[in-house]
Amino acid sequence: MKIKQIYFVVVYFILFILFSLHAHGREVKIGLWSDIEPKSVRYHSEKHEVWLFEGTQNAQLKKTLHKDTPFSIKLSGKKIELYQGSDVLETFDTLYIYPNAIHADFTLKNPYRTGNYKGKLICYAHTNGYLTLVNEIDIEWYLCGVVESEIGRIKQTEALKAQTLCARTYVIRGYKRHLQEGFHLCDQQHCQAYKSVSTYKPVIDAVFATKGEVIMYQGKLIDALFSACCGGVTADAQEVWNKDIPYLKPVLDGKYCQGSKNFKWSICLPYSEWRKLIPAEDSIPSILYYIPDQSGRPHKILYRNTESIMNDNTVRTQLRLRSAKIKYTIQNGSVWIEGYGFGHGVGLCQEGAIGMAKQGFTYQNIVKYYYKDVILGYDTEMDTVE
Ligand SMILES: [Zn+2]
Ligand SMILES: [Zn+2]
Repeated sequence: MKIKQIYFVVVYFILFILFSLHAHGREVKIGLWSDIEPKSVRYHSEKHEVWLFEGTQNAQLKKTLHKDTPFSIKLSGKKIELYQGSDVLETFDTLYIYPNAIHADFTLKNPYRTGNYKGKLICYAHTNGYLTLVNEIDIEWYLCGVVESEIGRIKQTEALKAQTLCARTYVIRGYKRHLQEGFHLCDQQHCQAYKSVSTYKPVIDAVFATKGEVIMYQGKLIDALFSACCGGVTADAQEVWNKDIPYLKPVLDGKYCQGSKNFKWSICLPYSEWRKLIPAEDSIPSILYYIPDQSGRPHKILYRNTESIMNDNTVRTQLRLRSAKIKYTIQNGSVWIEGYGFGHGVGLCQEGAIGMAKQGFTYQNIVKYYYKDVILGYDTEMDTVE
């Protein structure tokens, strides 16, 4: 055999081993950067050789590039062009970039964004005319990126583990969200924030110490909602989204999140802004007050003789408030609002979880405090992900 043939046999043998490992691993496909609709991106694998394939099924090896050989990927019509400098090296319909080591790091960069990732990258044209970038990555390494993106570089390990369980439960429950676009989840708030892989050791330790563990209610994965700060009482999913979910009911949290950075805030709004909450047919605005629900968020808004049920999201999003847990007074044409918490307030309170961890509670205590009557367990559903 010629040297080139031997080379290809060796490469295919290694790939066979890697694909076999892949079949037993838990990998997820995450759609990157769709919010900025990229047209091009620069790829750099500093430490590993990469193999470039056409397609993902029956992939055809078209090129190998040495480590530390950055290149650019550009969308041209529906084709993917591979550039080095101003030269087009190769053209693909679907470009599959496969590093020669598991969990290898690479960097993506364009004028608008930079991110560090691990694993594989798939590139193809989106039907809306931009470059689809999909990171195929081990689920636990993906979770490290999510946990750091969602809660930051905090020191409290037990709070990091609690956040990890929420994130892992969310991925496995929601992995079909973007299947029609060719991936499982996006990297935006729509699914879970995933800005980069994490290099922060406490996050990595928290994720791998709880590997595979998820939160369940009556044998099913829960909707593991969380917010930055509940402001003293978590919200009822019923009040926020009209969904009666038994494990998402108000929990008194003042002793854990009180005094945290988002616990209390205040603003002053012009009365005209406040008036936006009142239906147009009500011409007399002077009598307006709300009846709070049991977590202190608006439940009913009353004006004159009519009453309207506002859900928390309407109040919060229409007035662009940090949370719907508010008290207010009207003075001299202005509305003075004192607010508590940040976000919808349903489920786990991140600042409360940090407070509990500081007081010595474990991640099991934390998770079971915010989600009623749940158990922690392991789920195998992701093993069937195609
Ligand atoms: Zn999404
Ligand atoms: Zn709280």
